[in-house]
Amino acid sequence: MKAFPLLLLLAVCYAAPETRAAGRQITVRVYSLHKTSSVTLEPDDGAVSAGGRPLGGPARASARGSSVSLDGALKAGPSKSLAVSGAVWLSGKGLPRRLYRGELTFTAEKSLLKIINTVPLETYLAGVVTGEAGDLSHPEAYKAQAVAARTYTVKYLKNHLGEGYNMCDSTHCQLYSGLGKISAKALAASDATRGEMLLYKGEPAAAFYHSVCGGRTETMTYVWPFESKPYLISVRDGPPGSPYCAIAPGFRWKTKIYFTGLTRLGRQAGWLAPDEAAGGMRISAWGVSGRAAEVELYTQRRRVRIPATEFYHGIGRRAGWQAVRSSFFKVLAGKDYILLDGVGSGHGVGMCQWGAEGMARTGFKYREILRHYYPGTEVQVHD
Ligand SMILES: [Zn+2]
Ligand SMILES: [Zn+2]
Repeated sequence: MKAFPLLLLLAVCYAAPETRAAGRQITVRVYSLHKTSSVTLEPDDGAVSAGGRPLGGPARASARGSSVSLDGALKAGPSKSLAVSGAVWLSGKGLPRRLYRGELTFTAEKSLLKIINTVPLETYLAGVVTGEAGDLSHPEAYKAQAVAARTYTVKYLKNHLGEGYNMCDSTHCQLYSGLGKISAKALAASDATRGEMLLYKGEPAAAFYHSVCGGRTETMTYVWPFESKPYLISVRDGPPGSPYCAIAPGFRWKTKIYFTGLTRLGRQAGWLAPDEAAGGMRISAWGVSGRAAEVELYTQRRRVRIPATEFYHGIGRRAGWQAVRSSFFKVLAGKDYILLDGVGSGHGVGMCQWGAEGMARTGFKYREILRHYYPGTEVQVHD
């Protein structure tokens, strides 16, 4: 789950009245990171209709220009959009096979498919919790995750309103890989907390969460400058020296970046001019938690300041998210490289997912876990 300041600002400006969460439908763009011009549809159990007629067997939806057509078991189109309802498996070249329920609307833009799933919020949530809490095991950690994800969804329903849907299915919003592999724990946690949200002064909170804080969460403004929430403040994640999230695999990490690689990435990201070479790096500002808030790259003629979030995203997008897993690191200087000695994974704001697991194993209940990571909020069924 990553948010960018602009989207946040938009979401805050819209602040529409929140209506009852349970029973609400939301729209999710599926395969949002894939570019594809055709998808195979296979009905799961039960009745499936496509273009208003029953779909009895596999069919292929294809985009051409700005129209969609259907071949195979049921021919239809070309038309501007294709509506499918029921439980359907989607698959295709380069696409993971996934099951969706509810409604699917296929449209085309420049011969690429845009697929939007309309699904009850609680059903979507079971899918999100399956994906986001997949590595956790304790039921109370799952419940904390379900409440955080439900709240986040309701709070940020406007994330993609300009593009015609509520949420995308990538970590930009929340990971949603359909309903083919819903875990029993995720379903149980969603059911046990049905309709419950994290409220601050009676309104849904900005329930950010991340994988591993590394020992201390971060105050929002050090991660996204100019953004702040009274409950998104740095909290120590457990007793000194033994954080709750220390049980996470890869809690500690080290990454060596040669100056040549740093130069290449820096030029690609626009931090360095084409004739500039990186010859070192240091942290130039810190957040409350001890995370980097800003880093400085040295070149042959100047020092370039980069907000740490931009550095972490910039490296992640180009070199993979495993390279620099968080902005919680020390920089050790080598002859022709820097060594980042880091802890944690993710942005560090709000709930630490592995910390929630650690707290649950220590005996804390999900409401206590949520109060710990979002001080000043309360869990309630929200109308
Ligand atoms: Zn998104
Ligand atoms: Zn933690």
